[in-house]
Amino acid sequence: MANKTPITVAHGDGIGPEIMDATLHIIEAAGAQIEVETIEVGEQVYLRGINAGIEPSAWESLRRTRVFLKAPITTPQGGGYKSLNVTTRVTFGLYANVRPCVAYHPFIDTKHPDMDVVIIRENEEDTYTGIEYRQTNDMVETLKLISHPGSEKIIRYAFEYARSNNRKKVTCFMKDNIMKMTDGLFHKIFDEVAQEYPDLEHESWIVDIGAAKMADTPENFDVIVMPNLYGDILSDVAAQIAGSVGLAGSANIGDQCAMFEAIHGSAPRRAGQNLANPSGLLLAAVQMLVHIDQPDVATRVHNAWLRTIEEGIHTYDIFAEGVSKQRVGTKEFAEAVIARLDQKPQTLKAVSYVSSPKKAVDEKASLPHKASKKELVGVDVFLDWKTGTANELGEELQKANDGGLHLTLITNRGARVWPHGLPETFTTDHWRCRFQSNESITHAQITALLNRIAELGLDFIKTENLYNFDGEPAFSSVSGA
Ligand code: NAD
Repeated sequence: MANKTPITVAHGDGIGPEIMDATLHIIEAAGAQIEVETIEVGEQVYLRGINAGIEPSAWESLRRTRVFLKAPITTPQGGGYKSLNVTTRVTFGLYANVRPCVAYHPFIDTKHPDMDVVIIRENEEDTYTGIEYRQTNDMVETLKLISHPGSEKIIRYAFEYARSNNRKKVTCFMKDNIMKMTDGLFHKIFDEVAQEYPDLEHESWIVDIGAAKMADTPENFDVIVMPNLYGDILSDVAAQIAGSVGLAGSANIGDQCAMFEAIHGSAPRRAGQNLANPSGLLLAAVQMLVHIDQPDVATRVHNAWLRTIEEGIHTYDIFAEGVSKQRVGTKEFAEAVIARLDQKPQTLKAVSYVSSPKKAVDEKASLPHKASKKELVGVDVFLDWKTGTANELGEELQKANDGGLHLTLITNRGARVWPHGLPETFTTDHWRCRFQSNESITHAQITALLNRIAELGLDFIKTENLYNFDGEPAFSSVSGA
């Protein structure tokens, strides 16, 4: 290979430096063509008063190399420190979190010997955009945002990942029986993208039953793609039930940049004793080698590592009498992997990587999704109101009607309370009041409506416009209606 790929490396804290040295030693011995740029992140940087845990100059290296191999860091005790992972993810738009969760039976204890699942989690959207408000005395709100391009990118990534890793099936977890628009969009795009991959099976589960099945019979799953929140929770469940949390690596992939790390922390009590297991970071580095288009090196390293594990050469954390053959330190483990670089596992399944799924995603055209007509047909006005019953509010608010735009319903926490509400329905001080028109309206009609509502002495705290897209209402209908 002619050119070396520059990568940015952070040695981190605690066991970080030892496992990073071991990892770099192994991948370089395997022929990785990399040029390492080292940056400092973590505890010492936080303690210097930089609350993101990364020096401004380090961003320059990341922007140049666009590849970040990161050892675990220690977050100092006490508040006020920003998560370095979240900062990196947001700054570089790392949209895909990829976490293989694999059982290594019979060499590592597991309840699910045949588990081999890859969780692909959308990383930027959903309830994780941090847009939250306290709106009334009773009520706080978070926004769940799901976009067409965001969903398409992660779903395509999942299918491309499956294809390039010889996987057979992609499963989608979502909850569109409840969130018909947000999770419904994710589901719809999943079904559309799946049509482009007839070589792969695809299936969808509502996340609750899907999660139960995954925890019970994970061997029935292969690649699972999910929106952010479900993915956050279930990637930890999957890693835990595979029995190999300490061995798992993860990749965070973006349009411009990618970050690779172990999923465990900096294990400060084990630091500096040549005890730590470098496997999590090494498997993250394997993902990195695929990403930088060195799949042959990735394959060599991964197979040598599998061979080392099945020969029972284990660090203290996975050492088990009767299964393990030799208890080794970090350095000796690395040497053992290097000694097996031309070998394949005999019991565990050998791997074989081809080129990066990200490359294929970049080359694909996007699904069309532009509506030809967007029409404003009403507005939901949210009120902070405490003083009476739903019927009284309905009576009062109708005074704000004009010729076209008129009050059609009031809900409280999504349940219809006017017209024809039931007195039994529990209400808070947070009311959604829907004004609709039989024809298109203007923004000026909405601001005039808001002025009339203000003149009635009512406290509106938020509005949501109601649109028809191509003649179809593009807002949720109402339970109890
Ligand atoms: P941890 O993962 O560091 O340790 C949990 C347990 O696993 C400990 O008993 C530890 O000794 C053991 N362990 C972890 N990795 C090991 C390895 N490679 N080899 C052998 N044993 C290993 O979790 P924690 O103790 O909750 O956190 C310690 C620090 O790590 C905290 O400051 C936390 O904020 C940080 N952390 C960082 C990251 C990251 O940088 N991505 C992730 C998680 C935790």
